[in-house]
Amino acid sequence: MRILITNDDGIEGEGLRHLVNWASRLGEVVVAAPKVEQSAKSHTIEIHKSFEGKKVEYLPGVTAYAVDSSPADCVRLMVLGLKEHFDLVLSGINKGLNLGTDILYSGTVAAVFEAAALGLKAIAVSTEPKAISVAWEQLDRVWEFFCKHDLLNKHNIYNVNIPLNAGDIRITRQGGPYYSDDFLPEENDMFRPKGKPVYAPSNDCLDTDTVLTRKEISIMPLSIQRVDMAVYEDLQNLNHKE
Ligand code: MN
Repeated sequence: MRILITNDDGIEGEGLRHLVNWASRLGEVVVAAPKVEQSAKSHTIEIHKSFEGKKVEYLPGVTAYAVDSSPADCVRLMVLGLKEHFDLVLSGINKGLNLGTDILYSGTVAAVFEAAALGLKAIAVSTEPKAISVAWEQLDRVWEFFCKHDLLNKHNIYNVNIPLNAGDIRITRQGGPYYSDDFLPEENDMFRPKGKPVYAPSNDCLDTDTVLTRKEISIMPLSIQRVDMAVYEDLQNLNHKE
């Protein structure tokens, strides 16, 4: 198996190193990670200017590129630029959970969306900052779950979140906001965003990814299809008016 690994914390990211070390047992690993951190840069790509994709020393037996662009561009450069073939794309391990509507902003998750757009299978993996050095210890359990239930044949892309002291594994759907920001005014018309958790638990959302506060590992199937199919179906009659 050939595996492409990227992240949004940058090629120096601690979680990336753990993920590469773990995944090397599954097959041949190629790393293409941002030269500098791209957290919360979402699915941004370069379309008008050149960017660097430079082979760098990483770990023994691992080909690695530091890419001066986004996680999505890391995937695009490897697949569209260097014409490499991969059986699986992994993104992470992100230092910070990617839950609820925060996946709209996540560069980690955007790499997985880009993989899907290019016809590849992919998994994003995120954890709490305080668990960044130990979350990889749960990857054997997560991978066994994927294999046992044939998840990568059933669907192409997933978002995995691993809390500290992780318990059971739960298949989830997307919850609401998990973080938001206050904007603190500074001198010279500057404003500094300051993140804060806004998650409010409720009993009607036990299968949402945001209930991960209950210390379960969340595996959520993703889609790059953004159409609200329920509304689309409901409005279909407008296409057949006399
Ligand atoms: Mn990040």
